[in-house]
Amino acid sequence: AAKNKGKGQYLFCSSEMKEMVMKKANLAQNLYQAIEKDELILYYQPQVEIISQEIIGFEALVRWNHPELGIVSPGIFIPIAEQTGLINSIGEWVMMTACAQNKAWQDQGFKPVQMAVNLSLEQFRSENVENIVKKCLHKTGLEPQYLELEITEGIAMKESQYVIECLHNLKKMGVAISIDDFGTEFSSLSRLKVLPVDRLKIDMQFIRGIGINTRDESIIAVMIHLAKRLGLKVIAEGVETGAQKNFLKNENCDEIQGYYYYKPMSSEAIEAEIFNA
Ligand code: C2E
Ligand code: MG
Ligand code: MG
Ligand code: MG
Repeated sequence: AAKNKGKGQYLFCSSEMKEMVMKKANLAQNLYQAIEKDELILYYQPQVEIISQEIIGFEALVRWNHPELGIVSPGIFIPIAEQTGLINSIGEWVMMTACAQNKAWQDQGFKPVQMAVNLSLEQFRSENVENIVKKCLHKTGLEPQYLELEITEGIAMKESQYVIECLHNLKKMGVAISIDDFGTEFSSLSRLKVLPVDRLKIDMQFIRGIGINTRDESIIAVMIHLAKRLGLKVIAEGVETGAQKNFLKNENCDEIQGYYYYKPMSSEAIEAEIFNA
């Protein structure tokens, strides 16, 4: 809109932009100390097998409990962490905390399930992901089959031999790998042939179209079919309604992660409302 109002508006706009950049710089400055100050927290969202209705895993989702702003969502601060390189220390903290939590639940006698952790491309670029995974598993005593790494299509499709090698090494260690937000980025299907992937996560943008847009429904059906034919598990993200769940069940989708069953919850809430319910 500023463009239509003539030259003067650009000045106004640029000072607003300056303010935004300053805010971002401030946030980055605070984020730098967030780990030391114990301001990061993990929430865990249960994943449910449709047929049995049982919880078969959790996804660890990070939040930042900012002293002034309150809870900041990862959609805001993960991009800043990626731009500033802080994602490496945050990512390691997330993995360590998630593995420790999963092991603690197993030690308390709850049925062992997988814990999924999100990885950023930056972590492949600048750190040795394999070493960090090894360190987290070794330190917490979690067995590798109970850890799943979520990578986006962007990472999976990267023309980098290094990324592929890294994923194969992780797979050899016994860790599971899933493709997050499947269907939202450019992906070459032939890549699925060479990648050591265990599970596809259908992005919630398609789930939104169930009952509304037959194209979304067709795409979901094909993605589920593709996963099955490749011998992969398939989970639908962002399922909020019974109608969405029923559609997915009819299409033979294995698993669901969404508000229909559970929102992301603190570990205390998981223990109180699920394990000890
Ligand atoms: P994602 O990995 O695709 O995670 C799923 C997001 O969908 C989560 O948002 C979750 O709270 C939300 N969600 C789940 N079910 C529903 C539903 O039924 N309805 C709606 N409307 N939303 C639902 P969240 O926690 O805000 O995380 C956003 C993104 O931030 C994640 O998307 C992931 O890309 C990134 N992220 C979160 N934690 C980490 C982390 O530890 N490391 C990295 N690298 N990225 C992370
Ligand atoms: Mg994810
Ligand atoms: Mg996703
Ligand atoms: Mg995402």
